[in-house]
Amino acid sequence: MAKLPIIAIDGPAGAGKSTVARRLAETLSFILVDTGAMYRVVALAAKEAGHAPTEASEVTALARALVAREALRFERDSSLGVRVFLDNRDVSTDIRTPDIAMGASTVSAHPGVRDALLEMQRQAGKNGGVVLEGRDIGTVVFPNADIKFFLTAAPEVRAKRRHAELLAKEGNAPSFEETLADVKRRDDQDTNRPIAPLRQADDAIRIDSSALSFDDTVRSMIEHVKSTS
Ligand code: C5P
Repeated sequence: MAKLPIIAIDGPAGAGKSTVARRLAETLSFILVDTGAMYRVVALAAKEAGHAPTEASEVTALARALVAREALRFERDSSLGVRVFLDNRDVSTDIRTPDIAMGASTVSAHPGVRDALLEMQRQAGKNGGVVLEGRDIGTVVFPNADIKFFLTAAPEVRAKRRHAELLAKEGNAPSFEETLADVKRRDDQDTNRPIAPLRQADDAIRIDSSALSFDDTVRSMIEHVKSTS
């Protein structure tokens, strides 16, 4: 039987990648790999060890140690998409704060951190039948992925979605303006870093979800997957 495809979904924060990747993986019965969660765990572990995310050599050593002792573990979860464990501790909620999102963006700019996680990401996807979501899947992790999507939306739309999510989760969520500033700062950091910047692969299909519902977005992606297989 032919190998099942590797599907890459890249794009900026808040474009709806996680929701869409989860639904796509569920519909196709594919494995889901959330690479952003890996950078978030490194950011959390660094914070807990007392390191600022900017401390490149300390954070790199920590990321290498986490990978070496197989401290990062991911389990499929029907409500969260992926449940994330750090040394067998469930950190699925702890990694979803605005502070850790910013920390993940900062730690992910260190070449040594990216290098430490790259092999894990390639191992997770190499057999196909997988949806990987991130920033550099179609450009760096799997430049030969069978299908590549670049999912984006206007910054204001992404901030609005993110803000609604934060409000639903906690009473003292940041204001919309703060959320928008965070989204723009993270875009800027992710797009302008020298290593594996956020960028659309030449052969990726660009989907702007600003005016599309998630249902419509997923439907058009599934149609595309079926038309190519
Ligand atoms: O997608 P998510 O918001 O969970 O990603 C958190 C951060 O991890 C991003 O802002 C980005 O800096 C980094 N990231 C990355 N490469 C990936 C996935 C995420 O640099 N493949």
